[in-house]
Amino acid sequence: MAELRNCIRCGKIFAYTYSPICNKCLEEEEEDFKKVKEYLNENPGSTAFEVSEATGVSVEKIMKFLREERLELSDDNKNLLLQCESCGKPIKTGRFCNECRNTMASEIKKAFGLERRKSEYFKPTGKEKMHVIKRREGR
Ligand SMILES: [Zn+2]
Ligand SMILES: [Zn+2]
Repeated sequence: MAELRNCIRCGKIFAYTYSPICNKCLEEEEEDFKKVKEYLNENPGSTAFEVSEATGVSVEKIMKFLREERLELSDDNKNLLLQCESCGKPIKTGRFCNECRNTMASEIKKAFGLERRKSEYFKPTGKEKMHVIKRREGR
């Protein structure tokens, strides 16, 4: 039996699966995401405001895509500023810069103690590495 919930986006009741928003909203979000991504590919130098104007997607949502690491800024994106939530350094995707991420990961590791050492929490995804390599190439 599917659980019924209110969509957090449009408020309609829907059969909950894995997403807090209904299928219709999911599709719309997907459309928004595609529009933003395409626009950024074609206009890498644009600001969040310009992207928002051109795509009709709110600046807030564009930033959300970036924070969720669904969208990543290219090296040409000098005008669209995304900052590390901890130290304020400019970053290309996600919420924190690599340094803050590493600091946090090691602090959490310490806090979890030895018994949790083998847990999956900090398994590298390979994505971190890619960021580092890319950054080096850009210099
Ligand atoms: Zn909805
Ligand atoms: Zn930082």
